[in-house]
Amino acid sequence: MNEYDSNRISDLTKKINYTPTDNLGESDCYILNTCHIREKATDKVYHDIGRLKKEFRNKSKPIVLVTGCVAQAEGDILLKKEKYIDAVIGPQSYHKINDTILKLEKKSKPINFTEFEVIEKFDSLNSLKNSDNKISAFLTIQEGCDKFCKFCVVPYTRGAEFSRSLKELVLEANQLVENGAKEITLLGQNVNAYNFEKKKLSDLILEISKIEDLKRIRYTTSHPKDFTNDLVDLHKNCEKLMPLIHLPVQSGSNKILQEMNRKHSIEEYLSVIQKIKKAKPNIEFSSDFIIGYPGETYGDFKKTIELMKDVKFINSYSFIYSARPGTPAYYLKNINHDNAKIRLTEFQKTAEKIKSKYRNKLVNKMSSVLFENKTKYENEYFGRDEYFNSVIVKSESNLIGKIKNIKVLEVNQNTLFGEVVSNFNQKNYAA
Ligand code: SAH
Ligand code: SF4
Repeated sequence: MNEYDSNRISDLTKKINYTPTDNLGESDCYILNTCHIREKATDKVYHDIGRLKKEFRNKSKPIVLVTGCVAQAEGDILLKKEKYIDAVIGPQSYHKINDTILKLEKKSKPINFTEFEVIEKFDSLNSLKNSDNKISAFLTIQEGCDKFCKFCVVPYTRGAEFSRSLKELVLEANQLVENGAKEITLLGQNVNAYNFEKKKLSDLILEISKIEDLKRIRYTTSHPKDFTNDLVDLHKNCEKLMPLIHLPVQSGSNKILQEMNRKHSIEEYLSVIQKIKKAKPNIEFSSDFIIGYPGETYGDFKKTIELMKDVKFINSYSFIYSARPGTPAYYLKNINHDNAKIRLTEFQKTAEKIKSKYRNKLVNKMSSVLFENKTKYENEYFGRDEYFNSVIVKSESNLIGKIKNIKVLEVNQNTLFGEVVSNFNQKNYAA
């Protein structure tokens, strides 16, 4: 979502003639878009600003804005502690960025915009296209969250659940496709809770899937509790919907799930997975895990490992629990950090083994790949298969924006290496 936001900010500032540069020392305005989900986020801000100060030691200072969830949660402190920062702007106030920059050009006082003005924000960002001509584009359809998991800052930094209008989103999707997108990933902190005037995520996907030149649709991140049957059925019926679902579970222990206020049990989680697999047998799953949540015993942790082995997630994101100020879990007693580290290593080893096994099975299989760009090497292209695996192939002809059948020749933990095959046998398809 921050990548999507950064792109929109970049589109927005073009309107007042600020264009992105790769050369830090050349910038007239520096916008640091931040994430607050785990600790050290604020330290990173000070660190980055330190780097900037060094770069500009002998030059006049650029305008410095801190945007995103760190600005939302700790804006006042940032402005007080770091005078180099001119303004903090929370995620629901991005529409004020240009005015802020223009005001700062006239050297006004530090500015703090951290109100929740989500409707106004999307209204003013709506007329903008993603001008980067990305083959795979993001589209934020929903923001904020009403679930209040005890460890999570999102309900406080991004605010209450808000769904954008279906009409507006179809329009934006069309614009993205006109600008070259072949794949759209619909984004939301709780994307399958999308609900605009009774229109659900499945209605929106169905509408967007009618755009002829749009070939692939993904969505992230889903909550198990909101995985309704209409969405399950859509996976069976909508060819453009990709067969990988990111479905965070956080823990394999019912006790911990309850203490986290996740609002579902492991049995309910597994039944969602079963239901989806029944509708679409070649589907795969990825997930998020929090290791070492307060009160997690080794027995609870083992249940998380069992769940990993049971579902065989093809990708997983795991982190040690990080106490976030302002959340209910912040006041709980943390488990010993060294133990948490040992558990994380054990978990990640198991996850990597499962991932390796899955990947090795892909060798000599066929895979359908949408190519996004060239690599830095001559005649080499980067794309993603239907399961979001990175794929690299060599090709004499330009593959950007094309979907090709690939034979996988080699794999490592991050990438599949293959060759384009024009005559292929459907039976050899991966998964
Ligand atoms: N809405 C999604 C997740 C959004 S946050 C869901 O409900 O699953 C993205 C991920 O960050 C979470 O899935 C969780 O694994 C991780 N995360 C959030 N808060 C965290 C914390 N305090 N400590 C460690 N990881 C955290
Ligand atoms: Fe955070 Fe996701 Fe829970 Fe919402 S559902 S509070 S975004 S972890």
